[in-house]
Amino acid sequence: STARIKDFHRHDELQELAVSFNQMLDRMQRYIDQQKEFVGDVSHELRTPVAVIEGHLNMLERWGKDDPEILNESITASLQEADRMQHLIQEMLDLTRAEQINVQYPNAVTKVADVLKRVVGDLAMVHQDFVIRLDMDDLPEDTEIQIYQGHLEQLLVVLIDNGIKYSTDRKELNISAGLGQAEVQIIVQDFGEGISKEEQKKIFNRFYRVDKARTREKGGNGLGLSIAQKLVTSYHGKISVDSVVDQGSQFVIVFPALTKSQAARLRKREAT
Ligand code: ADP
Repeated sequence: STARIKDFHRHDELQELAVSFNQMLDRMQRYIDQQKEFVGDVSHELRTPVAVIEGHLNMLERWGKDDPEILNESITASLQEADRMQHLIQEMLDLTRAEQINVQYPNAVTKVADVLKRVVGDLAMVHQDFVIRLDMDDLPEDTEIQIYQGHLEQLLVVLIDNGIKYSTDRKELNISAGLGQAEVQIIVQDFGEGISKEEQKKIFNRFYRVDKARTREKGGNGLGLSIAQKLVTSYHGKISVDSVVDQGSQFVIVFPALTKSQAARLRKREAT
């Protein structure tokens, strides 16, 4: 009867093994499906700039040789499309990288106030027609979070750039940061065109644009917010939006705050 009990256990183990094997296959299948979808999306997005360049080259071939106006126009437009493709490719790389971030920078710590001051200062310099306010009254100067500095910069640039891109006549941005009980909150508020409730659910999806034609004019490709979201969640944070059409939008990022000793421990590990 001991043999039978042993058999019985073996049966149990096999069963467990089969279940976990099945789960692994499911996960792999999901991953493969996601990759396929990504490749499909990317091809779709690259098709437009390629078609535009092709159109201009055709025009050049037919008429451009004798018409300097067409020649100039087509060259300018083609260069602009090529530039757009470069940008798109860079952002697609950023997006795929953003998924593996915690592996790359597990021990990075960053002082929030320093990065905010620098990014806001730089962007205010470039966009002098905007009033960009930075309120850090509720953020102790030495507040730190677990994130690679370059990623916090990238995140802020995406949100502030959007606030500028989708502005209307009120050219103002309010950026604020504060330390709560156990979290650091950063808010980027604009007074631009706003986003409807329906659209708010979709803007974090990759390649999603509320108005394809118009955002294309503004140089958007629908990747900024999906990169931002991937970055935030890979550092255990959260990003959300609150917006009213024609009044403006408010993007809120929340990160877990680090205690002094946690920050010190991470910094020590990063140094070794
Ligand atoms: P894009 O490169 O097109 O700006 P994003 O992923 O950053 O891509 O944003 C997706 C879409 O969400 C944008 O195309 C735009 O329609 C909308 N959106 C993002 N930020 C704002 C904002 N601050 N105000 C209004 N609409 C916005």
